[in-house]
Amino acid sequence: MIQRILVTGGAGFLGSHLCERLVADGHDVICLDNFFTSQKTNVTHLLDKPNFELIRHDITLPIHLEVDQIYNMACPAAPGHYQYNPIKTIKTSVLGSINMLGIAKRCGARVLQASTSEIYGDPEVHPQPESYRGCVNPIGPRACYDEGKRVAETLFMDYHRSNGVDIRIVRIFNTYGPRMHPYDGRVVSNFIRQALAGEPITIFGDGEQTRSFCYRDDLVDAIIAMMNGPDDFIGPVNIGNPTEFTIRELADLVIELSGSSSKLVQNPLPPDDPTRRQPDITLARQRLNWEPSVPLREGLEKTIRWFRSIDLADYRPPTPNYA
Ligand code: NAD
Ligand code: UDP
Repeated sequence: MIQRILVTGGAGFLGSHLCERLVADGHDVICLDNFFTSQKTNVTHLLDKPNFELIRHDITLPIHLEVDQIYNMACPAAPGHYQYNPIKTIKTSVLGSINMLGIAKRCGARVLQASTSEIYGDPEVHPQPESYRGCVNPIGPRACYDEGKRVAETLFMDYHRSNGVDIRIVRIFNTYGPRMHPYDGRVVSNFIRQALAGEPITIFGDGEQTRSFCYRDDLVDAIIAMMNGPDDFIGPVNIGNPTEFTIRELADLVIELSGSSSKLVQNPLPPDDPTRRQPDITLARQRLNWEPSVPLREGLEKTIRWFRSIDLADYRPPTPNYA
């Protein structure tokens, strides 16, 4: 059935791919974004589609729209982006969620929250199941993001319990792919940009910390499956690729696949940087019949190809005008 779908943060890395998929499926899609960490070029190819609409708006401010589904993707996601204006980051998670839940309540829409593995903090349980309550430093530099997302989950659950709002919560683990912001400071974008420029690859700490990287197409499949999944399954559900790599292994792979002569350099580890991270995706397998299919090597090849095709001068780091 054709739905009227709102995608907040729809011009971002994941949001733009989601919009693309939903437009191709024939839905009426409203993409809402303030372009804090993205640019219009991510969605210009959709602008001439009759079932796509782009609105510049900040979700911390109320907006009146009539929709059937809402994907709440708006929030800076990379540490360098979310720490740029930490108070704004919390407002985006908290006020933004309240505004989106308000629309969902009024319209009877289903609303999906893009939550994160960061709600587990620096985990003492490995791999992380949804039942694990996390180990977050509430006063550290990552807290604006981690605690904002935790409050957002609380708001979603309370709107559901108190007001019957139809919600979904997905906890997204590190996802990468074409259209990542080249200056977002995340590990995949940093390493590829550095490798292609022949610059030193910056390993933070000893590089033995781990992450589990999910290719963006697998992620988009999962969140669409969750939005349209069983009525009794609201989440939270972990979405990610459970194959775990050390950061040093990632650096070696990027160097190999890009044919780069870059050397590794060691920089200080940022505070509260999680030591290990791997999703337990048993629940997603059981309830959504989903699992990721793109191995890191294949996803990195595609991502490196995209990085080779872009002009870095078209991208800028966040500026005070937008934050
Ligand atoms: P992104 O920075 O590319 O996308 C976020 C989008 O939200 C951008 O287009 C940005 O301009 C927009 N935005 C930010 N604040 C806004 C506001 N106040 N009002 C309107 N728009 C605003 O990041 P992404 O990787 O595409 O992440 C999308 C969502 O998925 C985020 O909510 C993020 O927390 C979540 N997530 C992503 C990952 C990942 O690895 N990519 C992991 C966990 C969670
Ligand atoms: N990292 C790194 N070099 C970089 C950027 C990041 O070694 O240039 C490390 C970072 O310290 C962390 C991991 O890579 O341990 C993933 O970092 P990212 O910012 O991509 O995501 P997050 O820490 O939010 O999972």
